Amino acid sequence: MFNKKTIEDIDVSGKKVLVRVDFNVPIKDGKVSDDTRIQAALPTIKYLMDHEATLILCSHLGRPKGEVKPEFSLEPVADHLGRILDRRVQFAEDCVGPVAEKVANQLNQGDVLLLENTRFHAGEKKNDPEMAKKLADLADVYVNDAFGTAHRAHASTVGVAQYLPSVAGFLMEKEIIYLGQAVADPARPFIAILGGAKISDKIGVIQNLLDRADQVLIGGGMANTFFKAQGYPIGDSLVEDEALQTARELLNLADNRLRLPVDVVIGDKFQADADQMIMSMGPIPDGWRILDIGPETISNFKKPISEARTVVWNGPMGVFEFPQFAKGTIGIAEIIAQSSATSIIGGGDSVAAVKQAGLADKITHISTGGGASLEMLEGKVLPGMAALADKD
Ligand code: AMP
Repeated sequence: MFNKKTIEDIDVSGKKVLVRVDFNVPIKDGKVSDDTRIQAALPTIKYLMDHEATLILCSHLGRPKGEVKPEFSLEPVADHLGRILDRRVQFAEDCVGPVAEKVANQLNQGDVLLLENTRFHAGEKKNDPEMAKKLADLADVYVNDAFGTAHRAHASTVGVAQYLPSVAGFLMEKEIIYLGQAVADPARPFIAILGGAKISDKIGVIQNLLDRADQVLIGGGMANTFFKAQGYPIGDSLVEDEALQTARELLNLADNRLRLPVDVVIGDKFQADADQMIMSMGPIPDGWRILDIGPETISNFKKPISEARTVVWNGPMGVFEFPQFAKGTIGIAEIIAQSSATSIIGGGDSVAAVKQAGLADKITHISTGGGASLEMLEGKVLPGMAALADKD
């Protein structure tokens, strides 16, 4: 379970606190276009402000590949955060070295500073000890609240923790408690729902959840590879031939705990305006492809989800970006929203679908981390978490 120290376990008053946040947000025309991740970091930021800490925030943004690329600058995020907090947020044009040191040294107690993109340095992704030490030298205490990057062992997520007292922020704590509990000690029945494009991205997750969940409901493109493994012709559906053997093994291992769609919505092309047909699962005609789960599958999945006490969902049930193939994904989102189970949703696309359907406030926990939440569901220990101090 969650056994790490948090910001509530240490004295931050008068200290310079380096906070690794996940401000990897979309930027359009120099402005933050979706600030979900910034909002998610606010409880930690506000707590530290209220407890008289001086804040030095750092994050990555996008994939600048170790070079300074202005389109990946965090400066618009500093402006945005300043507006949310209704106070000045300073910005340093580098995250380590003389520029960062100068700004950090001049901070007054209670100031808030955001450092430039950590991935402007190649040392970040290499977990370079020298970069980690330079980051640590800016502050007295390190807080990791960047759940979305906790599965990466980088200088600002792992290396830095060697040099400073290191604790978790509230977002990190909340994510690990919900996802960790669901996997390790779920209230039962525990139903996992997995979808999305591919099996290959989620083999470890399917294996781990087959061990732990009472049922694993499968939809989305990943169901196609299972269908092919069962011997169905699947027309032009997305399939991963290289994962067929794995799919067979999972089907053998799972007996009746793994449930596949019993009907599907097929389209005659991969386009929003494709002609569509609903059919019971059987040989898919040539030239057609599976693009959603069908109505009977939605109603079959309803019973286990409604009776569950824990539901975990990752990955859409179909190509929900095309409205006529979004019914499965929205239908499942609605059933989860109506259920009284502890519901946990991770992965960008299922989260987007739940928000699109206006159901986000009916979900117990919406994870801010795609890859990190999948690794939790796989039962892995996240390096960014492991690096933090244990509770006494
Ligand atoms: P993932 O990132 O693995 O969760 O996959 C999400 C993507 O899977 C979305 O963009 C969906 O459009 C896509 N997807 C879901 N079902 C299907 C399907 N039956 N055929 C092709 N793509 C699908």
